[in-house]
Amino acid sequence: RVDVIKPLMAQYKTSSDGERMRILANINSVSEINKLTCLPSSGIGLFRTEFLFMNCSQEPDEEQQYLVYKKIMDMLPSNYEITFRTFDFNADKLPLYMSMSSAFNVDTNQHHRNTLVKQLRAILRASAQRQIRIMFPMVAGYEETMELIDLFNTVKQNLTAQGYDTGRIKTGIMIETPAGALMSDALAPLVDFFSIGTNDLTQYTEACSREAATHRNDELTPAVLKLIYLTVQNARKHRIPVCICGELVHNLNYLALFISIGLRDFSVAPFYLNKLLEKIHELEVRIDLNLATKINAVRTKQEIIELNKSLIAQNF
Ligand code: PEP
Ligand code: MG
Repeated sequence: RVDVIKPLMAQYKTSSDGERMRILANINSVSEINKLTCLPSSGIGLFRTEFLFMNCSQEPDEEQQYLVYKKIMDMLPSNYEITFRTFDFNADKLPLYMSMSSAFNVDTNQHHRNTLVKQLRAILRASAQRQIRIMFPMVAGYEETMELIDLFNTVKQNLTAQGYDTGRIKTGIMIETPAGALMSDALAPLVDFFSIGTNDLTQYTEACSREAATHRNDELTPAVLKLIYLTVQNARKHRIPVCICGELVHNLNYLALFISIGLRDFSVAPFYLNKLLEKIHELEVRIDLNLATKINAVRTKQEIIELNKSLIAQNF
């Protein structure tokens, strides 16, 4: 059990408009949770659940999954927020039991639905007595979001009818495709939170490979910035929290800009938690009333770097 996660309050810094900022962890495995003992974080902003079952030779059943999720929850203090992302199978994260064609074959939609029901049942059962967050990856459309939330509600009702206890759950979606960002005004009222995945958002916006997108973590492109900005504005308009959890956050060159546009929750790999916390504490961000116009006018990656610098009060 991880008893001491560095005092939770230590991770907070209040921004100039009085809002609390949080740093959260991206976690891929049970063993990685142990790293959190000596690192600062207010919660897990992204638990990539597909990695938990990468080496299984068959799809894990509900009971197998329940035991793993329960173990994770038992390892962490009850007031420590955990955001489980439902399975996100893709070329870069494919378990042994799944082939590329089964992962992407549209005829297997029903199969994917059964898999999702099994996973939701397992997470919900394991969540009894605590509050957790569940988020769905790669969501881009209104109907799709409605269907997922309906499915979640049905699973929860069925469990209750069967006598199972479930926790208090917030449901959210990842905004990681241009379609998701463009639809964020319509999607926000359907969910409790957004989480922006810059790895896929970069890949799909810039039509580059996933590898190129993650290696570009030093390169926030103008198009991706505009989509992030739009998503944050829509989240704030509808008063839902929005986190940013892709590798771009590892690059501190954009932190002033991210804070300026209204991001308050940052989720990063454990290795970056200390660095990010330090930077958040030392940074003084200047309020720029013309920020919207400036973001709209940005044409190059270099202009983004300059805009970020101009937002750091110490540079002014
Ligand atoms: C992302 O796409 O930015 C993200 C955080 O999810 P993943 O890296 O697991 O695709
Ligand atoms: Mg992603």
